[in-house]
Amino acid sequence: MTTDEARRATAPNRAPVSGKVRTGRPRAHAAAVRPDSRVRPEHARRHNRALVLQALYRGEGMSRADIAREVGLTRVTISDLVADLISENLVIELGIRPDSRPGKPATLLDINRSGFSIVGLDLSHDAAFRGVVANLDGAVLVRGEVAVGNVSGQAALDAVCTLLDDLLARTTTPVIGIGIGTPGLVDLDGTVVSAPNLDWHDLPLQRVIAERYDLPVQVANDANMAAVGERSFGGARADMMLIRVGRGVGSGIVVGGQVVYGSGFAAGEIGHVIVGTDGGELCACGKEGCLETWLASPRIEARLAAAPDAEAREAVLREAGERLGISLGPVVGALNLGEVVLAGPQNVLGGALLEGTAETLRNRTMAELHGDLTLRMTTLGRDIVVLGAVVMVLTGQLGVS
Ligand SMILES: [Zn+2]
Repeated sequence: MTTDEARRATAPNRAPVSGKVRTGRPRAHAAAVRPDSRVRPEHARRHNRALVLQALYRGEGMSRADIAREVGLTRVTISDLVADLISENLVIELGIRPDSRPGKPATLLDINRSGFSIVGLDLSHDAAFRGVVANLDGAVLVRGEVAVGNVSGQAALDAVCTLLDDLLARTTTPVIGIGIGTPGLVDLDGTVVSAPNLDWHDLPLQRVIAERYDLPVQVANDANMAAVGERSFGGARADMMLIRVGRGVGSGIVVGGQVVYGSGFAAGEIGHVIVGTDGGELCACGKEGCLETWLASPRIEARLAAAPDAEAREAVLREAGERLGISLGPVVGALNLGEVVLAGPQNVLGGALLEGTAETLRNRTMAELHGDLTLRMTTLGRDIVVLGAVVMVLTGQLGVS
């Protein structure tokens, strides 16, 4: 999410959705969906500043003239913005461009990639909360973890603070923010609406951590964080879905480069959608044949352990892949996604399972419309959520991704 969207999402003058809206009166509806469109000077400046930082973040050493061309603003405006950014140490001068063009040689600029730190946490693993300190490029500088076992409620919140205390004490540059990927439903203000495994309900995690550490904080669902991480650091396309497989199954959906949250912040929660009409194993939720019963790691591991030979093991993986393909077909079709990325245990997901998913998707979607669909494993490994948390902070604080 961009800072603009974050502002719109929380804009106090946004008209509440009320019964009136549902009467279909055009003006009431327009008022409900249109954000505040007045452009204030400080907004324009903030926007232009983000454009400059984004150009530098994705560029490789640019002059002020290069930036002006790239973002479509005047040289004077760019020089003014750059002067401010240099005074804040967010932008640095690299030196003179080594070329032989006539005229005054250009000074190359870059975003100060190693001058600041971001702390990213991943609360989605059962045994431990994991965290990193990264620089603005997403290079991991420090790692930490806190064993959690069966902690929940206040004890789980205390464990988050223990991990943050440890990581923050080991930073060597100013920290621009903290990003936290947590399981469960998370609203746009970073309140954990519901995370049953941690026994968190309506916990305003983002506000609690921000007040305790006096730093900007971004809290989001772990699968959404993973999708954001894959998009920025894994080279994923702008219309993609990131499937996380572990003890459960979840996903993050990105459309037009933006995370889709859904009306109840549960977009991407595909784990308890029943796959097919032929039943299946009993799920923890009480239904039979949910995607999790086919795809969650413990279920697959149990079937693999019971399989008598290599052929039977391959059949187990292929069938799990087919069930994933069956559940993804309508999503890929409806949203015209360009890429589906799997994250989880490589030895389970990477071979016959991935092939089974790909074949099923091919058979169940229109080649003319979805022929360029890519299905692959993530390249970010276990860091996918913490890197997503880093991106969330980069976007929230600097407007870059
Ligand atoms: Zn279920």
